[in-house]
Amino acid sequence: MAISKIEWTESTWNPVTGCTKISSGCKNCYAERMAKRLKMMGQPNYTNGFQVALHDHVLEYPLRWKKPQTIFVNSMSDLFHEQVPDSFIFKIFDIMKQSYWHRFQILTKRSVRLKELAPRLNWPKNVWIGVSVENETAKFRIDDLRWVPSAIRFLSLEPLLRPFASLDLSNIDWVIVGGESGIGARLMKKEWVIQVQELCIEQNVPFFFKQWGGINKKKTGRLLEGRTWDEMPIKHVELEKEIEHNKSINMDFKKLTLFETSYA
Ligand code: SF4
Repeated sequence: MAISKIEWTESTWNPVTGCTKISSGCKNCYAERMAKRLKMMGQPNYTNGFQVALHDHVLEYPLRWKKPQTIFVNSMSDLFHEQVPDSFIFKIFDIMKQSYWHRFQILTKRSVRLKELAPRLNWPKNVWIGVSVENETAKFRIDDLRWVPSAIRFLSLEPLLRPFASLDLSNIDWVIVGGESGIGARLMKKEWVIQVQELCIEQNVPFFFKQWGGINKKKTGRLLEGRTWDEMPIKHVELEKEIEHNKSINMDFKKLTLFETSYA
């Protein structure tokens, strides 16, 4: 497990690493920069740098992490990349289902493949799925996401590269906004962020402001109008209760099985 510094998650799990650029939001990809650094450091999962690689030995990690946590799946890749076989995606979904005590967050720019594959995937309630939308051209991803039968559907408007005059948030449970960070970071204007926030308020969708970004993101911080905005999906609370309930049933079942085994 890798503890994550990303504000909207807790840890990361990378059974796939590497990717290729697909739209303007990818220009200054953080994962690419990081993969090159990890390759230079001799990290075995990054011997091919940012080329797509599957890591079977990582698949079962979440089953070993006993403490429930929010896990960002493939922070160093895009799960629905064309070089990731369907069978490997099925395996990942199976592990997420088995690790019902965790919450998994998947984020993709490959919404067309996501939409195509979604009916064949098993969608446990602890899996959240989101699409990245950086500008108007990428808005079609939101329509693709609406088709996906997951418990929670979310948008990551990061890096926010242009203003959104309108956004249809029907069937969307959560919106994250963030500016680009690092060398060459592109500007995000305050009025664009406020506009998205207003659209969220109008449509009753929780709003999470991640960061202003820029070359020094620590300095620019994450305050908007003097405060942080860390709203979470409303459905999430209900789902948590359900997961807790299932956990206790499972434990009771285990106790019962143990009792029956010893009785026999
Ligand atoms: S899809 Fe994501 S991981 Fe892949 S290149 Fe673009 S920003 Fe990087």
